Amino acid sequence: MSLANGRPYLAIPGPSVMPDRVLAAMHRAAPNIYEGDLHRMVETLWPDLRTLAGTTANVAAYIGNGHAIWEAANANLFSRGDKALVIATGQFGLGWAGTARAQGIEVEVLDFGKSSPADMGQVEAALRADKAGRIRAVLTTQVDTASTVRTDVAGLRAAMDAAGHPALLAVDCIAALGCDEYHMDAWGVDVTVAASQKGLMTPPGMGFLWFSEKARAATRAADLRSPYWDWTPRADGAEFWQLWNGTAPTHHLFGLREALTMILHEEGLPAVWHRHDVLARAVWAAFDAWSAGNPAIALNVADPAHRGRSVTAARFGAPHATRLREWTEKHAGVTLGIGLGMAAPSEPAYHGFLRVAHMGHVNAHMTLGALAVMEAGMVSLGIPHGGGALAAAARIVAAGV
Ligand SMILES: *Cc1c(COP(=O)(O)O)cnc(C)c1O
Repeated sequence: MSLANGRPYLAIPGPSVMPDRVLAAMHRAAPNIYEGDLHRMVETLWPDLRTLAGTTANVAAYIGNGHAIWEAANANLFSRGDKALVIATGQFGLGWAGTARAQGIEVEVLDFGKSSPADMGQVEAALRADKAGRIRAVLTTQVDTASTVRTDVAGLRAAMDAAGHPALLAVDCIAALGCDEYHMDAWGVDVTVAASQKGLMTPPGMGFLWFSEKARAATRAADLRSPYWDWTPRADGAEFWQLWNGTAPTHHLFGLREALTMILHEEGLPAVWHRHDVLARAVWAAFDAWSAGNPAIALNVADPAHRGRSVTAARFGAPHATRLREWTEKHAGVTLGIGLGMAAPSEPAYHGFLRVAHMGHVNAHMTLGALAVMEAGMVSLGIPHGGGALAAAARIVAAGV
């Protein structure tokens, strides 16, 4: 028998849960792309996208997923043979580095492993060692979605300044924007990368680049820039079609309008950040209680200060993570995230690691429900675990309102 019938909950770190209001806003006839309502509505998106990222910078929007926006960022920042310094704290930082390398950029990776934050002293040293000033930009993730390590972006900028290096700072906020606190301008970020399908609660298929005037000026001659990826007409285009280099992603835009209204004009960004913080801490409290009865269960990032607020990665001991994921999906309607990049080279898949997303359109009952069915799965599967996890999570929620 299954208890999964009812509304399913996709608790993976993207695509995230889409609000019915976002879906309903998309459910309409194709709009005229040459004039009228669509143009007027799109004008309202730009100030909201700037507010979301905490910036007065330029915004370029693309049809594409996160990988596309990595490529877009690289194409605008670099010329062939330029150097990038990538600060990697998991699979996604390494992914951005791989994309850059494939585009002909020389990449130096500072790899801090799969569960540790970046050491800013090492970053500073790497920049000081670049006497010839070949590093054009430092690339990093705000939250690496695989390890769920959160980078101290302001601290990274401070390390770059301490080194006195002129490199631009580009941050992939795909897993964090609209979830974890972020201030592009106040933190001295030159380029911010995001996509529609995580904190922005809109289907996969759109991505965004915010870029400072300093970044625009410093990269004017970047020779990797090709017509589709060029951020200039997308940010400045006098004609509507230039904003998209062709047909606009019409229905995504109506969905995004609704999502931004919910985030910025109804709940408000500080409340959105707070909600994610409380739900994240509820998840961590449950894991801490489970771990107390089984040392094989462990949060991937030991120090809460270095954990992202939108997704939590944890060890469960192979094969239990996979069995638990299968159980919660089959019997309880909750789909948890797989481990990414945690397998040893000898293992085709690692069955000892999973991720719980608490990202976007998620509230207390969804997170507490996901934790409760995880516990039910552990009981059913005979996975040893400490008690009191649900009570601990409930206490965090109670204190958080
Ligand atoms: C999801 C994600 C990506 C990749 O996005 P896709 O849409 O899957 O290409 C890149 N970086 C981060 C931090 C992400 O969370």
